Amino acid sequence: MSDLTSCVLTPKVSSKGFDPLGVAVHRGSTIAFEDAAAYAARGDRGDSGYSYGLYGTPTTRTLEAKLNLLEGASRSFLLPSGQAANALAVLPFLSGGDHILLADTVYPPMRDLAQNDLVRMGVAVDFFDPTDLDDLKSRMRPQTRIIWCESPGSTTMEIMDIPAAAEIAHANGALLGVDNTWATPLNLKPLSLGADLVTEALTKYVAGHSDVLMGSISVSRTDLAARIKATMGRMGIGASPDDAALVLRGFETLGVRLRHSEAVATRFAERLADHPLIRRVLFPALPSSPGHALFKRDFLGASGVFTLTFPETVAPHVTPALDALKLFVIGASWGGTRSLVAPMPVAANRSATAWAEPDIALRISVGLEDEAELWDDLQRFLDALDQSVAKVRAG
Ligand SMILES: *Cc1c(COP(=O)(O)O)cnc(C)c1O
Repeated sequence: MSDLTSCVLTPKVSSKGFDPLGVAVHRGSTIAFEDAAAYAARGDRGDSGYSYGLYGTPTTRTLEAKLNLLEGASRSFLLPSGQAANALAVLPFLSGGDHILLADTVYPPMRDLAQNDLVRMGVAVDFFDPTDLDDLKSRMRPQTRIIWCESPGSTTMEIMDIPAAAEIAHANGALLGVDNTWATPLNLKPLSLGADLVTEALTKYVAGHSDVLMGSISVSRTDLAARIKATMGRMGIGASPDDAALVLRGFETLGVRLRHSEAVATRFAERLADHPLIRRVLFPALPSSPGHALFKRDFLGASGVFTLTFPETVAPHVTPALDALKLFVIGASWGGTRSLVAPMPVAANRSATAWAEPDIALRISVGLEDEAELWDDLQRFLDALDQSVAKVRAG
């Protein structure tokens, strides 16, 4: 064999006896077939077989298998981001003339997708109050194909009655989809509560280190899986094995990270609830929160993300006072090791419900830093807030 060919053909070495605990990263577009007949029959390899890198590698299938287990799903799919998972969870099931209902508190890009792309496809789009099942029922139409939920709602943390929504959907021949990013598959199992489709932004808690984007769709039934798989293939959407390996690595510590963030966030939420500069702490794990009874019934725990609202006189000072923070990072997303804050507009993302509070809510994600130092940092922010409110008052 000439050197040129030797450069191209890579010798196979045995991996026998090498049994690491981590999952190998299998990169590949082309899959080699043993003969022409095997190539011709590649379509018969089924869901667990391999035919082309886009449709799955041992690395991505390993992550999908872990998701199947934790979600109680018949099949899971990986996508390049959480929002890609949301989009691909609904697109295969909608055609012109159909109707979709979305909770008013869904992740804002999902609202945008519905109002722009779905409307352009001729799909009728409607939003409902996630805390009012009668409102949901009254908006159902014979053409309703999907009810799309997120519980707790993005930023404002409303808890939905998912089993009841599933009943309403199924009585009308519609599917129930749930974006489960806040809870993760450890704290809520939407498929076991009657949902047909569940999405996760694995980017957040599951990957857990703010260094990778990935999403998943898990489904209850194989016929739904077939529709999603076909649409993903036609759109050419798959996930990188390198990214899947990072998510698998993060997954191993999800349980302890989540329990820690929940415990610290709960203590912070309790202490902040009485603060004179804060109007409400939106966190379903607080017994005083409106959705707490449903939360206790359906969830196995909370995550470390909660939201603060402020009185009218305080709200305008919140964003500048964030500059007093030294440990919390100001930035989008959450669920990583670093604690984050993000000022969030609410009113612009609501249409079926009224937002009666000042329009800056502060989302807080508790990470893994020392609890006392984080609390000191929050105090720095609250002191700065207090000073700028007092300055105005002194006029
Ligand atoms: C962040 C987020 C997403 C999107 O995840 P990306 O991976 O950033 O696209 C979807 N849903 C919810 C509820 C989120 O918070």
